Amino acid sequence: MDYYAGVDLGATNVRAVVAEDDGTTIGVSRRSTPRGPTGIDVTEGVLRTVREACGDAGIAPTEIVAAGIGSIGPFDLAEGAVIDPANLPDSIDRIPLTGPISKLIDSDEVYLHNDTNAGVIGERFHADRNPDDMVYITISSGVGAGVCCDGEIMSGWDGNAGEVGHCVVDPQGRLTCGCGRDGHWEAYCSGNAIPDFARLLAEDDPTISTTLPLEGPDFTAKDIFELAGEDELADYTIEQLAHWNAIGVTNVIHSFAPIVVSFGGAVALHNEELVVDPIRERVAEMVMTNVPEITVTNMGDDVVLEGALASALTGGTGDRKQL
Ligand SMILES: [Zn+2]
Repeated sequence: MDYYAGVDLGATNVRAVVAEDDGTTIGVSRRSTPRGPTGIDVTEGVLRTVREACGDAGIAPTEIVAAGIGSIGPFDLAEGAVIDPANLPDSIDRIPLTGPISKLIDSDEVYLHNDTNAGVIGERFHADRNPDDMVYITISSGVGAGVCCDGEIMSGWDGNAGEVGHCVVDPQGRLTCGCGRDGHWEAYCSGNAIPDFARLLAEDDPTISTTLPLEGPDFTAKDIFELAGEDELADYTIEQLAHWNAIGVTNVIHSFAPIVVSFGGAVALHNEELVVDPIRERVAEMVMTNVPEITVTNMGDDVVLEGALASALTGGTGDRKQL
């Protein structure tokens, strides 16, 4: 029997799954992502998690024939390493992944993807139609896309394709993105940015009434969604979010002609009716080409891990014909 492994390396947790060749899960493991001091400590945390998942499955790591990794970036793809990850301590400058995992499982078949590319691989693999053209968009602490176009998972020469959250949606650039540039999609619509967006809208029109704690230290996006239907500013913010999100999604659809657009990430998953449904309505009016099916992933928080496993099973493609 051949076995396969998937790894999800996030800023908070590292998870691993081991499966049989038909995708049936037989072992899992989860640990907190080591906070350093060096990148090698994170690598060791990943290897430990894979070994534990193998232990859970009752197999040796060398019985795994292929592994997929969905990881926080950015990458040095040629080196198979994460470089200067934004959401881990500064002392972590380099996390080698492909080489050490390849050594652990004694196989050269190790596929490294950023988390949104792992997302589209998982969505493609598990979709009814096994589509060659689809996009996975995450709306969480940031906004990003994984794109499969003409059957190819697009990564770009440096692995940075799909950074759609840094597309300009506001030419006036009134809000500054975490990357330091102005007017980017995720500067308005990511979970981290939504409170700033609500404050901006309140400033623009002080006649809009609200009980939101706009200047409170604990004010978050969650407060806004919780007051939907009860607070004028909350409703207006949700409407404006839909407007900017629909612009971003329409740009992605016009760029790649997907047949399915699937959403994930905490903001979309926890607020499907308030975030995704309005995007679907608006996009239908805004797209001048074919309007894709717009869905929410049914894998929830497992989409990156499942995508990493799907990558291992299909030679890095998510294409079920490769099984
Ligand atoms: Zn940006």
